[in-house]
Amino acid sequence: MSFLGEAVVDLAAVAANVRTVAAVARTDLMAVVKADGFGHGAIAVARAAIAAGAGWLGVTSSAEALSLRSAGLTAPILSWLHAPDEDFGRLIAARVDLGVSTVPHLHAVAAAGRRLGARAVVQLKADTGLSRNGAVGHEWPELTGWARKYEQEGSLRVRGVWSHLADAETPGSVSVARQVSAFDEALRIARAAGLDPELTHLANSAAALTAPAARYDLCRIGIALYGIDPLGAGTPGLRPALTLRSRVVNVKRVGRGTGVSYGPDHVTTRPTTLALLPLGFADGLPRAAQGRAEVWLHGRRCPVVGRIAMDQCVIDAGELPVAVGDPVTVLGPGGTAPTVADWARWAGTSPHEILTGIGARVRRTYRYGEAAAL
Ligand SMILES: *Cc1c(COP(=O)(O)O)cnc(C)c1O
Repeated sequence: MSFLGEAVVDLAAVAANVRTVAAVARTDLMAVVKADGFGHGAIAVARAAIAAGAGWLGVTSSAEALSLRSAGLTAPILSWLHAPDEDFGRLIAARVDLGVSTVPHLHAVAAAGRRLGARAVVQLKADTGLSRNGAVGHEWPELTGWARKYEQEGSLRVRGVWSHLADAETPGSVSVARQVSAFDEALRIARAAGLDPELTHLANSAAALTAPAARYDLCRIGIALYGIDPLGAGTPGLRPALTLRSRVVNVKRVGRGTGVSYGPDHVTTRPTTLALLPLGFADGLPRAAQGRAEVWLHGRRCPVVGRIAMDQCVIDAGELPVAVGDPVTVLGPGGTAPTVADWARWAGTSPHEILTGIGARVRRTYRYGEAAAL
């Protein structure tokens, strides 16, 4: 047995998802490949998304942006979460657009550009209600004012103005409408300061699919890129790209009243066959899914029983003729095996957390199209 866990990523699904969202949103798209492409592998996903027509790549950190450049990706990149004392010179030299939210941060970026003799390209972020990054209140006129001054000096260029929605997952939400107005006001202030941003953007996946007023020039798509419907509404054409699979590594027949895994939190109520799966919470199977989780084994959904441990968990295979080496699908694109959405429900979390939780020792492999179907 050559592997314990494998995440098979279908890049044809990623490409199809780009086209599906583009057809609905009718804007340019930024493929958000932060957190190693939501666990799928940032570089492979970025290549597939750009080839399918996405115009931009989005990441949170310098390291992520630079690794895309090192891999040869030349598409425009926006990176938006930095400490003000980071080495912005490296990012400017790599032609990475910087999301900037504060005046001290803007000063640092302008200074790095001057040192380098190059103009930094920034996208100013307004806070329209999320209260994380972004300038709010009097900070926004200050930020846009300073940015204009630096533009006139020639030390930077403001390509974009943007923000991020707090609850686009609730269609028709009053709060989305309020944030769209706050964003329009932020744009008005930026233009009044003399800025002329060519790129304005606010929408994530959910807004790209359901909130036309929030689409502006570009939608930043994360979860929909990976084929997960952010609204759980079954958007036609979205195809989950990742299948997490493994194999049975041990099988035992046990009697009624047998304790299973730590605790034991589970005791068998009948004679049964237990199959050991070599994946645990370090590999992304959340402990919180205990008592609800299922996997696909021998053409059937079988329950995971007892506590999910760091490296392994136990499947109750009942009377199925299970043998060591039998394939197990932990989650897949849907139809029969459990999905990312199922795991998120079982663990009381979001699909984002399930996908990004898939651990480093699960090897990633890539397919294009049919071959990925299991
Ligand atoms: C993660 C992220 C996104 C993608 O959000 P989804 O809801 O997964 O589409 C978009 N914009 C920003 C700023 C983000 O941090």
